Amino acid sequence: MKSHAKVVVIGGGVVGCSVLFHLARHGWTDVVLLERDELTSGSTWHAAGGMHTINGDPNVAKLLKYTISLYKEIEELSAQATGVHLTGGVLLAATEARLDWLRGVVSKGRYLGIDLEVISAKEAAELMPLIDPKQFVGAVRNKEHGHLDPSGVTHAYAKAARKLGAEVERFTKVEDIVRRPDGLWRVITNKGDVITEHVVNAGGLWAREVGRMVGLELPVLAMEHMYLITEDMPEVADWNKKTGTEIIHAVDFDGELYLRQERGGMLMGTYEKANKVWSEFSTPWNFGHELLEPDIDRIAPSLEIGFRHFPAFQKTGIKQIINGPFTFAPDGNPLVGPVRGLPGFWVACGVMAGFSQGGGVGLALSNWMIEGDPGADIWAMDVARYGDWATMTYTNAKVRENYSRRFSIRFPNEELPAGRPLKTTPLYDTLSTKGAQWGVAFGLEVPLWYAPEGVKDEFSWRRSTDFDHVGSEVAAVRNGVGLSEISSFAKYKVTGEGAAAWLDRLLACRLPKPGRMTLAPMLKGDGKLIGDLTLANVGEGDWFVAGSGVAEQYHMRWFEAHLPKDGSVQIKSLGQKLTGLAIAGPKARAVLAKVTRADVSNPAFPFMAVATIDIGMAPCLVGRVSYTGDLGYEIWMAPEYQRAAYQALIRAGEEFGIGLFGSRALNALRLEKNYGSWAREYRPIYGPLEAGLDRFVAYGKEAGFIGKEAAIAERKQGGKLRLRAFIVEATDADVIGDEAIWHDGVVRGWVTSGGYAHNAKKSIAMGYVPKEIADRPDGFEIEILGKRHAARIQATPLFDANFERMRA
Ligand SMILES: Cc1cc2nc3c(=O)[nH]c(=O)nc-3n(C[C@H](O)[C@H](O)[C@H](O)COP(=O)(O)OP(=O)(O)OC[C@H]3O[C@@H](n4cnc5c(N)ncnc54)[C@H](O)[C@@H]3O)c2cc1C
Repeated sequence: MKSHAKVVVIGGGVVGCSVLFHLARHGWTDVVLLERDELTSGSTWHAAGGMHTINGDPNVAKLLKYTISLYKEIEELSAQATGVHLTGGVLLAATEARLDWLRGVVSKGRYLGIDLEVISAKEAAELMPLIDPKQFVGAVRNKEHGHLDPSGVTHAYAKAARKLGAEVERFTKVEDIVRRPDGLWRVITNKGDVITEHVVNAGGLWAREVGRMVGLELPVLAMEHMYLITEDMPEVADWNKKTGTEIIHAVDFDGELYLRQERGGMLMGTYEKANKVWSEFSTPWNFGHELLEPDIDRIAPSLEIGFRHFPAFQKTGIKQIINGPFTFAPDGNPLVGPVRGLPGFWVACGVMAGFSQGGGVGLALSNWMIEGDPGADIWAMDVARYGDWATMTYTNAKVRENYSRRFSIRFPNEELPAGRPLKTTPLYDTLSTKGAQWGVAFGLEVPLWYAPEGVKDEFSWRRSTDFDHVGSEVAAVRNGVGLSEISSFAKYKVTGEGAAAWLDRLLACRLPKPGRMTLAPMLKGDGKLIGDLTLANVGEGDWFVAGSGVAEQYHMRWFEAHLPKDGSVQIKSLGQKLTGLAIAGPKARAVLAKVTRADVSNPAFPFMAVATIDIGMAPCLVGRVSYTGDLGYEIWMAPEYQRAAYQALIRAGEEFGIGLFGSRALNALRLEKNYGSWAREYRPIYGPLEAGLDRFVAYGKEAGFIGKEAAIAERKQGGKLRLRAFIVEATDADVIGDEAIWHDGVVRGWVTSGGYAHNAKKSIAMGYVPKEIADRPDGFEIEILGKRHAARIQATPLFDANFERMRA
């Protein structure tokens, strides 16, 4: 075994082997994979081998498509059979709500290039003869669905990697990992040490143990999972004989089942409600090629539905039940990427569908390690979407919930209850008594809307019980004044003698003068966005930065990776050590003036001013800015002052009819201002020009900034896309995000977010289209629940287009 390598990949399951292959294919051949046993000694060997292109996140779905397209290449390169059978499949709906969900999947597929088609239950039964069509209301046909040989695929990756120069060391157990003073990693194995720049944790079932070697508690947990294989079935033999083809795959969401042909019989797997965690706290090292004891009682309720939906199973014996463990992250998507605070330590774990996701994970990770960027928008898989709050107990609750809901519908207004409430602000109880309906962002409870006694969300794809109440919250803001809790923003404090110079280079904007704020796009080297922040110059060398709450860990990883080594700059994430409130609306200044001695008149405290001001007795940092697009203020205070500030503002606002508003009203308000937000409109695949943030980029900044050359090139060449706001002729349902945008009968773009703008009384969608059609007045349609609705571009904001209210 070599004693030095550029990269050590730990784990020879399908994921580790894919990472190794991709690194070697990308030109890094001084790489070694260490496997404690034979390859495939974790979850991989007993997988059912199914593969498909369906994922809730379109960017992950793209990587699934890539994975499936890769198998031919690795088979050819390695001369190792992968056993791929691209049979195609049907996704079945037993209820109308499920069919609505499937229509959304088809809409996404249109711009992702995934060939999906809504068909009737009868047509589904003609494609898959075991279906009882009476049990279903419709289906979707997916051509990119099939199965493979899990061991064959893993060995094909490994052999292909070896051919390209990578090494694989079997029976080599990593026992510890130590960071040396020179920044290199010492990987200690039972066969000696390997010194390396990069370590990849692809430990699968043992990812937690490998993480713990470097002091990391990863939010992953293994669950038991069962599938059965039947005796040979005459129906299968008949079909094979009649058509000369295999029986295609089926996913029965309402039965929580997946099915495919296995030799002369069928394989049926289920995500049962009464699920079972495996090895809750640590994974035994002596586990390997064993299976777990099957428990037919646990899966009996699902099988009962399965036998009804696919009656031929009733007449067939079960040959074998496989029960094996595999790992999940709390939301069921993989954990991929560099780990904050551990330079050179990477993870590729929590991969619950290794044969659909493994290729994409390997591609993204190898790009990231070699090019410094994953080369795709992999936010939904990024390990940075979790923070310290994702503890072992939280993970346990969430993984169980996610497993039991694997095939359940999640409605756009549905909040999942497990692991909550976890993080709350001091106002949680007070706002709950006012009817706050809570959502969650980066582990923190956030008020979505305020419900009168006895009213709550009815889960639906369409406008629901909150509609009128959110409308009233919007009206309170636009007609008077509203107050909202904004603690879920990420907040950072930057100090030190080098702070100004560092921020100047990190951010694409010009730095504001003391007492002023600015919007601050942050770019990557390729000129694409990595943040849309607000930067405030608080004076005396102190800087305050606010950004997307869910991206706190993501941004801290970026900030810390770019800090000067000389210690001249300090950045601290304030988390919930700083809480916030916002007031907005034409009466907002009158309210503020009542609770402070400071002069908050327009000349003294104009738009984008920032100052330390007492609100009642509470010392606060106040910025004159509002995401509502109205006259408004964001007010930041230590948590021990939040109640006092809240009460002072509510008391002062009484005479103006102050109302509480939640994030759904905020969404309605920002939409009529054409404001985008991080993780929706602004993502790391768009340039500032494309996203409409170019007006905040100081292209001529002498000091230069990260991504400057690429941003200038984008401006010169015009980029490819444009973000646009559309008014949609919708009736009872608005866009959610990820719907297809049609132009002249062809799918040309995708929706990033939207909803109903109650004040303007318009249904609005925001989304990207090619620049060539971005200024066409008409010809657009936006698909909602499978129906195309006429849409037109709304170039100027529907509310306060001339900023008269905001700057008044
Ligand atoms: C019953 C069942 C059915 C499934 N069906 C499907 C399916 O149809 N389709 C699908 O896509 N997925 C399926 N899966 C999930 C799939 O198996 C996993 O997504 C996949 O195997 C994860 O691969 P991995 O490489 O991340 O982890 P693993 O397969 O667990 O591999 C990790 C490897 O790392 C090694 N290792 C760990 N620690 C060390 C160390 N310290 N030193 C050296 N080596 C180490 C282990 O020995 C192991 O070989 C199924 C899983 C089960 C249990």
